[in-house]
Formats: sequence, C-alpha cells, structure tokens
Amino acid sequence: MLENEVCYEATLDHDFLDEIYSLPGGEEIKRCIQCGSCSGSCPQACQMDHAPRKIFSLIRAGFRDEVLESNTIWLCSSCYTCAVRCPKEIKITDVMYALKRLAIKEGKARKGRKAAVLSKNFVKMVNKYGRNHETELMTRYILEAELFNALHFVPQGMRLMMNGRLPVMPHKIKNLDQLRKIINKVEELGEI
Ligand code: SF4
Ligand code: SF4
Repeated sequence: MLENEVCYEATLDHDFLDEIYSLPGGEEIKRCIQCGSCSGSCPQACQMDHAPRKIFSLIRAGFRDEVLESNTIWLCSSCYTCAVRCPKEIKITDVMYALKRLAIKEGKARKGRKAAVLSKNFVKMVNKYGRNHETELMTRYILEAELFNALHFVPQGMRLMMNGRLPVMPHKIKNLDQLRKIINKVEELGEI
C-alpha cells in the first residue's frame, strides 16, 4: 500500500490477527495498547517500512501483505529493547520471529531474502553437525544469495581462513541424534 493510496475493506484479511494470535509468540498482540514505547525504543525503527507499533496496528487491521512484505521483520536485530520497555510485557521480538517464519512460508520474504537464506542454511548446519560450520554456511549462502557478488567475499574469506576462523572440516557434536529429535520437534511446532 502506498502513502495516500485508497484501501478497500474487501482487500483486508480480517483473519490475520487470529492467525498471528495462534502462532508461537503471537498470542499477546491483542494486549497492545498502541503506546509506541516499542517504536520509540527501537534502534532500527528509522530504517523500517513500519516501526513495531505500526506493525501491530496493521496486523489488527488485516493488512497481511503490508506486514509480511515489509522490511521491518528483517531489520529487527533481536536486541529486545522493545520487549523490555513494553508496559504490557508483550514479547515483541518473538512476534517478529513468528512473522519471519510466516513470511518465508508464504514466499513473501522478498525484502529479507538474504536473511531467510542464511537462516534456512544455519538450521541445516545445526541439523547436520549439531553446530554451525561457518565455511559450508557461507559457501551455501553465497551460492544461493550472492552469486553475482561472490568475488567480493574472497578477500575477507581468505583473511578469516588464515586466522583459523573458517575451518575446512566440520566438527560434529556427540549425541547428535538427540539434538535432531529436539530440532524436529521444534519444527513440528512451527517454531523454526
Ligand atoms: S510498547 Fe507494547 S503496548 Fe506499547 S505499542 Fe509497543 S507492543 Fe504495544
Ligand atoms: S527487538 Fe527488534 S523490534 Fe525490538 S527494539 Fe530491537 S530491533 Fe527493534
């Protein structure tokens, strides 16, 4: 929706709030009193399409695409300042995570495509080795999200490798099966 663009009632999704409400971390939105403390505290607000208070207002009004396609959820750096200052103790950061998962699921993460690629491959690494393997993660990320920019990463990659920060071989943790069971359960619950 553009500034001053007319919005018709029929285009709104009035089930969106209930859908968010049913997501892990989304159940508290109805308690928002629109005080704006979150937006006033957020260090990223000036770069966001909509600051956190407005995102909650848009969710309530049924602006599904406006919320899921915004850059807001991808610029959230999980600093938790908003959650600490919210007078209604709403876990705003958790809601941002829930919105990220929904945006990825619905293919609406265009503005956060690179973050989504990184996140997806990080989970893959943890599932595979029980911990991150930076070299494989960055290789996968560059191939999927930065292919035309790959050379840009070479000098930094070389420096990291020479300082032992990019191990060639991955290291698996012990009892990996137990961790995989936990990850599978979390995925079942829709938390990843
Ligand atoms: S600080 Fe809490 S109550 Fe205030 S607008 Fe943000 S989410 Fe709503
Ligand atoms: S957790 Fe996200 S939304 Fe909240 S203040 Fe930090 S950057 Fe802003």
